[in-house]
Amino acid sequence: MRGALDDIPGYVPGRPAGAGGPGGRPAFKLSSNENPHPPLPGVLEQAVAAAGSLNRYPDMTCAGLLAELSARFEVPVEHLATGTGSVGIAQQLLQATAGPGDEVIYAWRSFEAYPIITQISGATSVRVPLTPDEEHDLPAMAAAITERTRLIFVCSPNNPTGVATPRAELERFLDRVPDDVLVVVDEAYREFVRDDRVPDGLELYRERPNVCVLRTFSKAYGLAGLRVGYAVAHEPVAAALRKTAVPFGVSQIAQDAAVASLRSEAELMRRVAAVVAERTRVSEGLAAQGWTVPDSQANFVWLRLGEATTDFAAACEQAGVMVRPFAGEGARVSIGEPEANDILLRTAAEFRRARGG
Ligand SMILES: *Cc1c(COP(=O)(O)O)cnc(C)c1O
Repeated sequence: MRGALDDIPGYVPGRPAGAGGPGGRPAFKLSSNENPHPPLPGVLEQAVAAAGSLNRYPDMTCAGLLAELSARFEVPVEHLATGTGSVGIAQQLLQATAGPGDEVIYAWRSFEAYPIITQISGATSVRVPLTPDEEHDLPAMAAAITERTRLIFVCSPNNPTGVATPRAELERFLDRVPDDVLVVVDEAYREFVRDDRVPDGLELYRERPNVCVLRTFSKAYGLAGLRVGYAVAHEPVAAALRKTAVPFGVSQIAQDAAVASLRSEAELMRRVAAVVAERTRVSEGLAAQGWTVPDSQANFVWLRLGEATTDFAAACEQAGVMVRPFAGEGARVSIGEPEANDILLRTAAEFRRARGG
């Protein structure tokens, strides 16, 4: 095996709901930032119809989905690429740009897939710590660029802290990045952003050939199980994504379900608004209990618990909600059904009381 594979950190999936709740009742899964709602109206019907042709390979070019995305975002089809989730596309981007001796910059802590896919590529991770406010430290990231830098991830809103990067800061940063370094703006949670200061990555892409935007159907659209995401990028980035794609990677079920989801915009907006309303309720409730809660623009909240993290996660599990602990750092809690969010709020309050906080 290639030495690059030694010591790769495993991707830790959010613990499933199992039977963690009191009295053996299934717990709520707030550990993977999934959408608590089922697929949008009309989507299951399309998926079932597509399943009737499972003996056939899917459309390798994803033409229907690309046409839909092209019209919706007013970008040329040639600037679009689909993949098996945006993680799949991120891995293709690394395959296309980086190898041994090259450097990949990202904030830390950020999305746990970045170190894994960087290490698989053979390139070296350059991690730039978040600021004390849980934001990307973009000046430090710019200062970390060397002639070996090939790709930079900017995760906005950031997983797991939820904090998004404002336009002015991001533009100042992009002005400092050399033209031949690819900046990947990972917008997996874009639909949940409500802060006007946060730019739509597509605006940045339009003005800057070295910006690639990643989006996914896994979060707001509720299709995590289907593995489909997309990138918006100029040539030659989009062309490289077509070259590095696993042939037929995106199933026809995923393609047709994604198209149907894009056509269910009104209901999507309603559901996202409901999640955002719950995010506000949970954030304010936690703050009222005395927690420091970063301003989340995503479908989760972050509690920097430090050494208390695993105890907190265990208390949540005991109470019936699974959260995603990062031992020694903090816990990420997805916004779920109101009932699940209530359990989280109650448990957080008890946890503070028990510790005299
Ligand atoms: C969930 C997530 C993704 C998307 O993953 P998929 O592979 O599309 O399911 C990408 N980036 C970040 C930061 C995420 O949190």
